[in-house]
Amino acid sequence: MKTQLALDTFVKETGGWVASQLEACTRCGMCAEACHFYQATGVPEYAPVWKIELLRKVYEQRFTLAGRFKVAVGVDKLITDEDLLNWSSYVYHACTVCNRCSMVCPMGIDLGSLIHDVRTGLVAAGVVPQDLMDAVRKQLEEGSPLGVTDTVFEDRMEFIEDEWEEDLPLDKEGAETLVVFSSIEIMKFPQNIAAIAKILNTAGENWTMSSTAREIVNFGFYEGSHEHTKLFLKRVVDGAIEMGVKRIVVTECGHAYDALRWTAYNLMDIPASLEITHIVALMDELVQSGRIKLKSGAFNNGTITFHDACKIQRKGGHINEPRRLLNILAPDSFKEMTPNREEAICCGGGGGVIAIKEADPLRYAAFKLKIDQVNAVGADTVVMCCSNCRLQFGDGVSHFNLDFKVAGLAQMVADALIDGEG
Ligand code: SF4
Ligand code: SF4
Repeated sequence: MKTQLALDTFVKETGGWVASQLEACTRCGMCAEACHFYQATGVPEYAPVWKIELLRKVYEQRFTLAGRFKVAVGVDKLITDEDLLNWSSYVYHACTVCNRCSMVCPMGIDLGSLIHDVRTGLVAAGVVPQDLMDAVRKQLEEGSPLGVTDTVFEDRMEFIEDEWEEDLPLDKEGAETLVVFSSIEIMKFPQNIAAIAKILNTAGENWTMSSTAREIVNFGFYEGSHEHTKLFLKRVVDGAIEMGVKRIVVTECGHAYDALRWTAYNLMDIPASLEITHIVALMDELVQSGRIKLKSGAFNNGTITFHDACKIQRKGGHINEPRRLLNILAPDSFKEMTPNREEAICCGGGGGVIAIKEADPLRYAAFKLKIDQVNAVGADTVVMCCSNCRLQFGDGVSHFNLDFKVAGLAQMVADALIDGEG
């Protein structure tokens, strides 16, 4: 029964594009070494090409003569419930959908999107890890996977305003920019919200937060469910349309940016005039246009490196903006890790992996690759602009008892603001 539901979904998802991608794969295996989970463990099933094998099997068995023949003569077996459970662990526990594997594929196969399709089939079969299902349920019932109910939201915003003395405009009529935060920032990094408010207030940006369209995190997207992804995105998009804002700014959350910036356009109507951007792009724009000024060299101390987030830098293309900012903030201290930019290695906690307790050993194993990179450059501070990466880095630093600092870029920008400028 489970298997049939998954197969039907895979078949539904297998349009011309998916078929052409699967046909193009030569099984050269070059993508394996690009995957941090494969690199960290050497487990063959964690190779990217194997993670899409389930989809390929369905495609072959349903749509090709050769596939049907192989089943008929016993060379290939029909997919079973056990296969679905195995692939659930490969594509949820051991994949952050970082898409680094696609960067090395000589055939240009978008493995990340295909792996997302595998997740979609597994959702239909109900073989999603329990922790992810619980988070989705909380987001459906309470509006937030981390319990940011109306009361919690009001309390947190009041706390931020009191603690950092920053004005947080809420449901402001006539605002042009709607800023949407992730639940991680609201619950774990409130100082990031204060920092972003300080930057926008200093720039004189006509911005607001919304009491309804307030949280951008999307566990439906992690899970791979189109239905839930759309529902959670709609809350934000509808709120923005209702308020008449000109742009939505996603703060330090990579997967949420991916969901809103690209996936949303395939799931609902979004006015062409509504701009969707990331806070790192906005901060850079404010500096470049002279609306905020930063104290040059404010963080020139020790060695600072930057961690590129898969969805913000590799997919989002916001590669130069953080570097321009860091070259103002710490021109002498900023040094690149290797590999970096679009080839950077994922932190190991994205794609929902950090929310799956059972996957902890794997994400710590993958994080060791980041430790090696940080050590190789001799950094004592690692900066990033994704709160999910920041959570993984913070967790990794405590788990391995490391002594480098983990910093959010927005907070550094806010701390370096030259008062009175804007
Ligand atoms: S690198 Fe590309 S072509 Fe080679 S096995 Fe991986 S997905 Fe297939
Ligand atoms: S998307 Fe990232 S984590 Fe997933 S298989 Fe590819 S490289 Fe590995």
